[in-house]
Amino acid sequence: MTSFDLNVRARAWSLAIALAGLVACSTTPPPASAPVVIAKPAAAPPVKAPERVAPTPSEAPISTPTPTATPAQPPYGPAVAARFPDPPVNYRTPAFEPGHRGFTSNAELQSLLRNLVHDGRATPGGTTVMLLSLGSSQSGVPLEALLFTRNAEVDAASLVRAGRPTVLLIGQQHGDEPAGSEALMVIAQELARGALQPLLDRVNVLVLPRANPDGAQGNFRVTASGIDANRDHLLLKTPEAQAQAQLIRDYRPVVVIDAHEYTVVGRYLEKFGTVQRFDAMVQYAMTANLPEFITKASEEWFRQPMLASLKREGLTAEWYYTTSTDIADKKVSMGGTQPDTGRNVSGLTNAISFLIETRGVGIGRLHLKRRVHTHVTAMTSVLHSAADHASDLMKLRQYVDNEVSAQACQGEAVVEAGPTPSEYVLLMLDATSGADKPITVAWDSALALRTLKSRTRPCGYWLAADQTDAVLRLRGLGVLVQQVADVGVMRGETYREVAREAGVRQDVRGTIADAGGVVLVQVETVPTLIDAAAGSYYVPLDQPLANLAIAALEPDTQNSYVSNRILSGVTSEARVMMRPEIKLVAVP
Ligand SMILES: [Zn+2]
Repeated sequence: MTSFDLNVRARAWSLAIALAGLVACSTTPPPASAPVVIAKPAAAPPVKAPERVAPTPSEAPISTPTPTATPAQPPYGPAVAARFPDPPVNYRTPAFEPGHRGFTSNAELQSLLRNLVHDGRATPGGTTVMLLSLGSSQSGVPLEALLFTRNAEVDAASLVRAGRPTVLLIGQQHGDEPAGSEALMVIAQELARGALQPLLDRVNVLVLPRANPDGAQGNFRVTASGIDANRDHLLLKTPEAQAQAQLIRDYRPVVVIDAHEYTVVGRYLEKFGTVQRFDAMVQYAMTANLPEFITKASEEWFRQPMLASLKREGLTAEWYYTTSTDIADKKVSMGGTQPDTGRNVSGLTNAISFLIETRGVGIGRLHLKRRVHTHVTAMTSVLHSAADHASDLMKLRQYVDNEVSAQACQGEAVVEAGPTPSEYVLLMLDATSGADKPITVAWDSALALRTLKSRTRPCGYWLAADQTDAVLRLRGLGVLVQQVADVGVMRGETYREVAREAGVRQDVRGTIADAGGVVLVQVETVPTLIDAAAGSYYVPLDQPLANLAIAALEPDTQNSYVSNRILSGVTSEARVMMRPEIKLVAVP
């Protein structure tokens, strides 16, 4: 990989680091006799996320559920398999129980989580292990996370105020990618009463081990309605994506890790005659308007130590890449640059945000211990990095939140960005001999984003009074929305639609599993005075989540709220170019 210039404002970065260095971390070990706090499961926090959109027949799961964990035929011969020996570890999740043939079931997972909360064993240092209820999957399976903290007050607002960084670990958004979920059970055990406990002096940890239990149950990628949860983080159509948004909105994690698995044979064998090689594929957020210090910290504080940890365990790693499902298309792309995946949307909340993928899709339980060990190794590294940089991370978050807010009414905002076409030599495996097989591929690099469309960054957006669906979803993401108290005028720009066509959302794999298609509009902006009625809305960009609001509200992208009919049309919103001087109140 050629190095790329982050174009970091080195002086400010040095300042941030220098400031961070001034504060000594509190690493005093807790007294062994400290009281144990075992919290009862929390009542479900009030959900302000949007209402569930009823699925339509076209949203039926695209994969046929196959409950067995083992493919009918071995995916490759012994020479390839020999490249992936089991690591000398012993994990204790239900899937690894002697005689267990599948993966940990939803019922087994629920039981395991409750045992970590209720088992009553001593947890030194006053660790609270709390079960968080985040609603239910589309088929009614509870969506549950564990909170691990040593803060005295354990409600979300107190944790945010207390100033210890929170790390959120998410597994199995895609139901047929089980290793992340099994690994998070291991991580949860280690946090509750194992080697990771001492890190809780410096960080809080949220573990959402199974974000898509319906897909896990049926061994399919998407959610029960057929919508891909990991393309739904801006739109929030599914309760599964809403649950993650709720955690991120309420706990403001500074680090978010999203654990997946990738296709090992399948279309790679068809396109290249190869089998996939890397134990881990890793990528951080790469999308338009991402603060550059987030990228810098992701690389230096997290990815480099993670690669070193994996290497120490004899595990290989590469940037995350994928290829389309069109067999004739030989291009390979790094993970997408659109603001729809968990990785990119979390990045736009100013979190360090990583996708970690192991080689698991389509090979059943083959190499399961190694896949789980890869995730455990990577996530353990992340937790250590977060603890090592706890103070730096809080300063970075504050700095970036302020920096993003301060950009309102100034400069340019990127409306759409894309990857840079290049070439790359990828190591794969010869499907028969198992030997390394380098292939040169056309490679869309997300490391260098190209601006495809940009506009002057407004001060905020006006939304018509009847656009409550959009307001609910923005607030579900944590975006501040205000309401116009008295009728007034705002100086700004309206959008004029100059073309429209029906389309379907696309990503680097091909068509996104979604519902209903999109309306792709082209617009011009027209300077105007906006008559803001009482009860209409204002989304200020002088807020930390401004870049998320831009992703949702600039209308002419496939992910926008206009394209996805969450806003009723381009005339239902406008760009506000001077800070409004009319009375605005918080949305009740
Ligand atoms: Zn996935």
